[in-house]
Amino acid sequence: MTDHALHSKAFHEAIEEDLLIGSRCLVCGNISVPQRQICPNCHSDQMERIQMNGIGTLATFTVIYVPPTSMADAGYNAKNPYCVGIVALQEGPRISAQIVGLDLSDPATIKIGMPLKQTFVVRGEGESAKKFLAFEPA
Ligand SMILES: [Zn+2]
Repeated sequence: MTDHALHSKAFHEAIEEDLLIGSRCLVCGNISVPQRQICPNCHSDQMERIQMNGIGTLATFTVIYVPPTSMADAGYNAKNPYCVGIVALQEGPRISAQIVGLDLSDPATIKIGMPLKQTFVVRGEGESAKKFLAFEPA
C-alpha cells in the first residue's frame, strides 16, 4: 500500500468514528487535511496527527444535477440534486465535501462565506453502507 493510500485509509477510518483528522507540521505549523507524512510547505517529516474542530466557512460550491454512479445509487438525480462545496476550515486547510441542510431549490440562499460545521452522512445500505464527511449550516 502506498503512503498516500495508507493515510487515506486512516482518514476514512476516522470518519467512521465521526472524527475529522489532519496533520500539523511541528517545524512550520502547516496544517493538512487529510493528514500527510511530509509537510507540503517545508518538507519536514515531523508531523503530528490532529483532530480538526470541524468548523469552517463555504468557499465555493456546485449543485450537482447529473450525479456520478455512486451518488445516483444513493438516490440523487436531477430532481433530487446535491451540493458539493469547498469548505475553508478554521485551522486553514480547505476540504471538498457534500453540503447538506441547504435549500437547493433556491441556490440564491446559499452564500459564500456562510458558517458551516461538520456532520456525517451514511450512503448505501447494509454491508455497502459507508459514512462520509459532510458539512451543514452552523
Ligand atoms: Zn512544515
